[in-house]
Amino acid sequence: MTSQINKNFPFRLFLAFIILFSILNLIITEPVIPILGFHGIMTSKTPTSSLGDMHYPQQDLEKILEYFIRNNYWFLTTQDLYTFFLTKSQKIPKAHSSQKPIMISFDDGYKTVYTNLLPILDKLEKKYGKKVKVVLFINPGVLERKGSPSSTHLGCQELREGLKQGFYDIQSHGLNHKDLTTLTRQELVKELQQAQIKLRKCTQDLDPQQQVASHFAYPYGAYNKQVQSYASKYYLSSYAYNNRILNYGCLKNYYEIPRIPINRQVSFQKMLDIAEGFHQIKSQQKCENK
Ligand SMILES: [Zn+2]
Repeated sequence: MTSQINKNFPFRLFLAFIILFSILNLIITEPVIPILGFHGIMTSKTPTSSLGDMHYPQQDLEKILEYFIRNNYWFLTTQDLYTFFLTKSQKIPKAHSSQKPIMISFDDGYKTVYTNLLPILDKLEKKYGKKVKVVLFINPGVLERKGSPSSTHLGCQELREGLKQGFYDIQSHGLNHKDLTTLTRQELVKELQQAQIKLRKCTQDLDPQQQVASHFAYPYGAYNKQVQSYASKYYLSSYAYNNRILNYGCLKNYYEIPRIPINRQVSFQKMLDIAEGFHQIKSQQKCENK
């Protein structure tokens, strides 16, 4: 009996090794990029009653960003994703070739992206010598007006500061955060076009290559064929908000890039699981079914 087990042991070990190797191989070669979608950032001082689940605790966010830095992640801008992964019009630079790509985005331009996030990014840069890039999807129609008291939203000046420091990738979320699927063509064009014009006006001198407002995120994640078609007249790509991981190996339509909503209910561990790609096998199946 004992000798039977011993005889089988090398074979079983071999089998276990093969299975483990295939799983690892699948994880490593799967062409996925998690794109996380945040909103505002709250601190321990923020009265929780006034905020929904949408705002994320500052301490947890700092922990996760620090984890990404220490584990050699590449914080993609929208243009990086477009150039190196979607269109592949340029080769991935050597400095990034061993890194794990991820995108961290913040929607709606809450002021806390300036007051509670920028100090973390600054602190992490001083500690690790690495710059965390975050993508902001902004509605210029709801930007803070000059001189208005304590707005909940960012002003142009704050956007400019984060851009100048190299932390913000400023992109468009429509002029007034309207559900684009409910608009007339004329209103739709206004939402798409005016958002781009206003954001570029705010950042003009800091953005000679006009990378600001070249990409778009649908308000409420809502889009249809007409919205996609008009978005493609003004923007190079558009982001959804649909709880899926981007498998860029099979994404043909640049106007439905998936994103994963992150709210207060998403724990630190869950976010690590997403980032480390434990949802990859699921995303591959979706791709094949298409
Ligand atoms: Zn939004």
